[in-house]
Amino acid sequence: MKYSISVTKTTSPKEKPADESKLGFGKLFTDHMFLMDYTQEKGWHDARIVPFGPIPLHPASTVFHYGVEIFEGMKAYRKANGDISLFRPMENIKRLNNSAERLCLPELDEEGCLDILMTLVELEKDWVPHSEGTSLYLRPFMYGNDPHLGVHAVKNATFAVICSPVGAYYAEGINPVKIAIESQDVRAVRGGTGYAKCGGNYAASLRAGEKAEKNGYTQVLWLDGVERKYIEEVGAMNVMFKIDGKIVTPELTGSVLPGITRKSCVELLRSWGYTVEERLISVDELFEAAANGKLEEAWGTGTAAVVSPIGQLFYKGEEYVVCDNKIGELTQKLYDNLTGIQWGKVEDVNGWTVKVCNG
Ligand SMILES: *Cc1c(COP(=O)(O)O)cnc(C)c1O
Repeated sequence: MKYSISVTKTTSPKEKPADESKLGFGKLFTDHMFLMDYTQEKGWHDARIVPFGPIPLHPASTVFHYGVEIFEGMKAYRKANGDISLFRPMENIKRLNNSAERLCLPELDEEGCLDILMTLVELEKDWVPHSEGTSLYLRPFMYGNDPHLGVHAVKNATFAVICSPVGAYYAEGINPVKIAIESQDVRAVRGGTGYAKCGGNYAASLRAGEKAEKNGYTQVLWLDGVERKYIEEVGAMNVMFKIDGKIVTPELTGSVLPGITRKSCVELLRSWGYTVEERLISVDELFEAAANGKLEEAWGTGTAAVVSPIGQLFYKGEEYVVCDNKIGELTQKLYDNLTGIQWGKVEDVNGWTVKVCNG
């Protein structure tokens, strides 16, 4: 079911960025955005593309007080042949609905949501940057906006999509990152909202991230919230290890975000004949493997960076170097294949990319 989308074009389009090497991440936004409202009586209604700008909100809006907000992150790519395409967008839409279910927000029609994304990207297609490694980042999000302070499932919500041209993540080449294992704060617990992509999980993770950065680390490696023993994620990425030839990644226990890059890596690795174990992995097991020279590679996975090699791990006063602090062979192969599929340079045998329009 498609939503009926009205389009109001801006009368003052912005200049497109002249220097694509300075795009960065999430700093610039396109000319338009998508908005759609939900009420209990009317369901989803008033789907509209309007000029990009501020969204007025009632000061009592649920999102301000109780953090009822979920989001997605995905990219539109300009392929080598000029076509503009999305990468596994239905996976993002399904995850958005799973997040909505967890936070008692209204779900969206899947086909209707895909149509919204395609319509907006096609309208903004000239904003999809051209340089290698760049893309148009899409940020769909939904929030509760009941205009009163009672605590209960919302009756009013808004779904929005904004778009931001983003630069090549690895403009200066892929450099392995230094990771600090966090033993005080936790990001999520089983039964909580860890598997939902919600703003609140990020609010809870900021303090550890700031502390790590202050101490010279790029990201935090999160441990499980109950025993502080099992590895969950790295920053806002899923994490994978190559141990003695096999790939190990934390299983989706409920506190781990089910990443689409994670899923794609697991599927690619299995198709290449690797054994991939989705299971609990403790820090002790990881450091034992490191001590025995069996920890061959470690990397994070996520839409923004695709893969991010881990070069150093810091835990309780000790530092471990992974793969000589260089990008591992398999990490590089994953990066080359995934970005190759996204940019249309490697054959998309699984049908992961969805064409939006000609460039
Ligand atoms: C979005 C996100 C990921 C990565 O998911 P992708 O679908 O691969 O982009 C991993 N962990 C957290 C906490 C996230 O929010």
